[in-house]
Amino acid sequence: MDCLFCKIIAGEIPSKKVYEDEQVYAFYDIDPQAPVHFLVVPKEHISGPSGINEQNEAVVGHIYSVIAMLARELHLDKGYRVVANCGEEGGQTVGHLHFHVLAGRMLSWPPG
Ligand code: AMP
Ligand code: ZN
Repeated sequence: MDCLFCKIIAGEIPSKKVYEDEQVYAFYDIDPQAPVHFLVVPKEHISGPSGINEQNEAVVGHIYSVIAMLARELHLDKGYRVVANCGEEGGQTVGHLHFHVLAGRMLSWPPG
C-alpha cells in the first residue's frame, strides 16, 4: 500500500522518533505549527478518524494515554492540543489516522 505513514512506521522514510511501542509510533511533524508539534499514529493502517470502528477502536484510547504520558515527559505543563483532522474540509492530507499534539504557544480557538 502506498501510504506515507506506513512507510515512516516501517523505517522506509526517515522520521524523528518521539516514542514507539507495539501499537503506536510517534514522531515530530516535518512542518511544525507550534514550538512542539508531533504526530501519534497507530501502527495498524486506519484511513483516518472515519475509519475507526468497533474492531480497531481500542488503539485510540491507547493513543490518548500515550499522549498524556509524553506530555508529562516533555513537561507540557501549560497545556497542549490534540487534533485529528478528517476528510478534505477537515484538513486531512495523509490517509493514515494521526493525532497532532501541539504545544508551546497560546493556541487560538476556534481553528481557522
Ligand atoms: P493532516 O494535514 O492533518 O493530514 O496532517 C498531516 C501532517 O503530516 C502535516 O502536519 C504534515 O506536515 C505532516 N507530514 C507530512 N509528511 C511528513 C513527514 N515525512 N514526516 C513528518 N511529518 C510529515
Ligand atoms: Zn498507512
